[in-house]
Amino acid sequence: MDFGLSEEHAALQQVAKQFVDRHCPPALAKEWDETNAYPAELFKAISDIGWLGLPFPEEAGGDEGGPIELAIIAEQLGRASLDIAMCFIGTLIPSLTVYKWGTDAQREHIRDNMLKGVGRYAVAMSEPGTGSDAAALRCEAVDKGDHYVVNGQKMWCTGAGLPDTKIMMYVRTSKGDKKHHGITLLLVDADTPGLERRQAPTLARHILGTYEIFLTDVIVPKENLVGEQDQAWKIMLSNLELERVLMSGGYVGVAQSTLDEALEYSKVRTAFDRRIGDFQSLAHDMANMQVEIDSARLLAYRAAWMLSQGLACSREGAMAKLKGSETYVAAARLGMQICAGHGFSTESVMSFRWRESIVAPISGGTSQIQRNGIARSMGLRAY
Ligand SMILES: Cc1cc2nc3c(=O)[nH]c(=O)nc-3n(C[C@H](O)[C@H](O)[C@H](O)COP(=O)(O)OP(=O)(O)OC[C@H]3O[C@@H](n4cnc5c(N)ncnc54)[C@H](O)[C@@H]3O)c2cc1C
Repeated sequence: MDFGLSEEHAALQQVAKQFVDRHCPPALAKEWDETNAYPAELFKAISDIGWLGLPFPEEAGGDEGGPIELAIIAEQLGRASLDIAMCFIGTLIPSLTVYKWGTDAQREHIRDNMLKGVGRYAVAMSEPGTGSDAAALRCEAVDKGDHYVVNGQKMWCTGAGLPDTKIMMYVRTSKGDKKHHGITLLLVDADTPGLERRQAPTLARHILGTYEIFLTDVIVPKENLVGEQDQAWKIMLSNLELERVLMSGGYVGVAQSTLDEALEYSKVRTAFDRRIGDFQSLAHDMANMQVEIDSARLLAYRAAWMLSQGLACSREGAMAKLKGSETYVAAARLGMQICAGHGFSTESVMSFRWRESIVAPISGGTSQIQRNGIARSMGLRAY
């Protein structure tokens, strides 16, 4: 048994740490969030350093990097903020999905564009009427021979407003016996006629932005079909484990930053002639939080390791996602209590952490949905 990072992994961790210090320190992430800024230079830097290509096969110009390397990067980017980690994860997961299931032309597009720092991918599963119950989606695509005509609405499509974005959109092409049947995956350019976007007003996630999408008679050519018509449910599930591993890495990174920031504050802020961190009630809370974060980290890297070994890790991925996301919320809540009035000021980084943390146990599958999956793996029904 070995809990340490290999020399190569430790070196990657160091590079990623320096990358965050240089390109996206937390205060800058907060500023981007508050100004709804599109940090083009950050996306370029992520691409230039080769991280977007990392998990792709060599023939695509990639490095065949695995889940552990990706989790290390996600964790370090998470030190800046969850949204910054999502700048990486949010385009990587859909592009890997398209690369796996798509046509040669779709793969070529990824090679010639995203892997060269041009263009991004976003995912549109959720709709106003359905989120957790993704298979209940209703947005309809009618097969017209050489193209589809799409009508309906999507909700919460993260990154759909960024330049050169292709939306990986799940639509209904038929109604089978079961709701999982009849779902199809289409690649839709964000600027296709008939498609309108509206940025959702949200507490955070402002760097990438998350969008409502309205589709009225949108024409999507057949060559934008990914995989087989009506068979996209299995595509939707195919990268779920990796997505959970990477999200968990991001949560652990941001939870650790949050605690580090609270700890630092507790060492300089004084009350009753002593450092507030030396009050036992706060010291124990911070000690407990470090235990929580280490537990979340171990779960995240266990799932990453299992995936790297080709082992099924749906249960372990759900555990890591659940623990990591809830730990971020708990760390931000504690950080606010320790920073007190200073934290409540929207000028503090801690206030940004608190705002942003709330979405962690919601997006990418809620905590309840993770618990359902874990309970099912224990032989329980868990609706
Ligand atoms: C900032 C943000 C970004 C997002 N980005 C994307 C994106 O890029 N693409 C995309 O497709 N979607 C995205 N989403 C949508 C996200 O995946 C959904 O919000 C999430 O799956 C929950 O769906 P919902 O909000 O509709 O809640 P609902 O599904 O309506 O759930 C409401 C409540 O009921 C609980 N619940 C539902 N079903 C069960 C059950 N079976 N057992 C127990 N409890 C249950 C939920 O846990 C929750 O507490 C994003 C959401 C947010 C907030």
